[in-house]
Amino acid sequence: MNKFQILVVEDDPPVRNLITTTLKAHDYRFTVAANGKTAVMEAASHNPDVILLDLGLPDMDGVEVIRRIRNWSHVPVIVISARSEDSDKIDALDAGADDYLTKPFSVEELLARLRVTQRRLALMQGSGQQAVYVNGQLRIDYAAGCAFLGEEEMHLTPMEYRLLCLLAQNTGKVLTHKFITQSVWGSCWEKDVGSLRVFMATLRRKLEKPSGSHQYIQTHIGVGYRMVKVTEE
Ligand code: CA
Repeated sequence: MNKFQILVVEDDPPVRNLITTTLKAHDYRFTVAANGKTAVMEAASHNPDVILLDLGLPDMDGVEVIRRIRNWSHVPVIVISARSEDSDKIDALDAGADDYLTKPFSVEELLARLRVTQRRLALMQGSGQQAVYVNGQLRIDYAAGCAFLGEEEMHLTPMEYRLLCLLAQNTGKVLTHKFITQSVWGSCWEKDVGSLRVFMATLRRKLEKPSGSHQYIQTHIGVGYRMVKVTEE
């Protein structure tokens, strides 16, 4: 039995059935809510490990549901949105969602997102306030303020190092352009997003080119970036 308890928030019965059937088939435990009010109550009373949250709910905006839950809980939230709700998706990530699925999605995508979240939770529980971050070949020594790829020290500019640390500290989570620029520059102007793109491109070249096959940083076009936990072959 999978110990994970998932709260499924979805008002559309066919989508909800697809999700719950998939969860059942993979031994996840779950509860369901068909509107925002019930979702907030369920989150408070059942303390789920993950919340799958549809953004278009009949009584309340999904983003509002996240804001309310974030008042007391850090539970990972994966939002489900229609493609037409791209800006809602970004708002949801800014409000504290961890990841997203875009409708229509496949069973495989749903399961993959849940696995990413499970890995992220395991990582968070295992790491705490560690002085050294390790992900595949990448090692960040926070105390020394430097990063290594294998045995080689990476030559990063201060900005690239800050970006790398920010992504590492949020491994598994999609960070929006706004979140990153506010964390790094304290502002979010169009020009900052442009600069961010340039810094990320050079950081990725330094990080991913020498290590060959490993992809550490995912680009989410129009949304942001995510550091992934790489699995060593
Ligand atoms: Ca809906």
